Amino acid sequence: MNVDVSIARCENYEPQAVKDALLAVLAPINGLDWVKPGMKIAVKANLMMHMKPEKAATVHPQVAAALCELLIERGARVVLGDSPGGPFSAAYLSSIYSTTGMREVLRTGATLNDDFSITDVSNPNAVAAKEFQVTNYLIKADAVVDLCKIKTHGLMAYTGACKNFFGAVPGMRKSEYHYRYSTHEQFANMLVDLCEWCKPRLSIGDAIIAMEGNGPSGGTPRRMGAILASFNPHALDLAAAHLMNLGVTDVPTLQAAFERGLIPEDVSGLHLYGDLASFVIPDFKLTPKHDVKLWGPKNPVLAKILTKLFASRPGIDLDRCVGCGECAAVCPAKAIRVVNRRARIDDAKCIRCFCCQEFCPKGVIRVHRTFTARLIDKLK
Ligand code: SF4
Ligand code: SF4
Repeated sequence: MNVDVSIARCENYEPQAVKDALLAVLAPINGLDWVKPGMKIAVKANLMMHMKPEKAATVHPQVAAALCELLIERGARVVLGDSPGGPFSAAYLSSIYSTTGMREVLRTGATLNDDFSITDVSNPNAVAAKEFQVTNYLIKADAVVDLCKIKTHGLMAYTGACKNFFGAVPGMRKSEYHYRYSTHEQFANMLVDLCEWCKPRLSIGDAIIAMEGNGPSGGTPRRMGAILASFNPHALDLAAAHLMNLGVTDVPTLQAAFERGLIPEDVSGLHLYGDLASFVIPDFKLTPKHDVKLWGPKNPVLAKILTKLFASRPGIDLDRCVGCGECAAVCPAKAIRVVNRRARIDDAKCIRCFCCQEFCPKGVIRVHRTFTARLIDKLK
């Protein structure tokens, strides 16, 4: 198990400052020594939706450009891509590249992925995802570099290097996975399976401006001033989650990685380069924690009662909803209708996947904890 994690300070997205910080974070782990001339490298960036860089929902274009530049200086051919939550098509990705500022990487000689083919994959050694589909540009590369944004997440509490590989699954097919892997544990194991299958040679975390609160899209940008690097995506996540005061038991993907022996129990087991403690933000705001998430259970009556009493659910701020229908379009359970320019959720159909919270462009859907769950917290 490689537990090296490097962290370096970077206060802003000024291009030279970002490049210097990347060099500084990569130096102690010899982060690019594996890059050989002529190698084809796919950079899997987190470009989750149409959002401008200053919203801190997507990886910043200056980090992407600096990384591409360093890879190309070593003679690599670089393609940057992602499959965000809409259709995996040329037209959709073209507008995502523009909105997120990713066309910036073109000045370095890198290209933006324009291969929208997909492959069926069989992974018999997986814990959860034994069969899945993956975007071909990742398969065709000699190596994959994981370029993630450090944020809170409504469903998984935290998103970073491991969760970034949900974007290896093409477009709208991601919705089916919320049904197929319906508990936090199954969903996290599916994500770890995907990440392990994609086997990034290097992971980089953009935490210069992270996102706190109602992440991964509706939260608030928060300066962390950090950039992280590791050969182990789960070790990077363990370190980055620590900056938000989260540990293994708080983040299902970390728990799943720990159970597979991919990371130690806490950051004291990491081999750290840089002063991790100096980047911790004591009052970093998280999404409300989830309580139970039950559907398709063995005892449906009991499960229904427990779900009603304890399961966190999406709550819409109707005064701020603009009726755009994006939430209804991504809802795998078809539980949302837009009536009189306001979104309405059918609680009986909702499977608590929080895709709507993730993709609402106005950030008006929040993770809502039930009265019972909040009451029990007070009694603890
Ligand atoms: S995506 Fe957000 S703003 Fe649009 S209809 Fe749904 S809740 Fe309203
Ligand atoms: S309403 Fe939201 S949380 Fe419920 S199933 Fe639909 S997308 Fe998932």
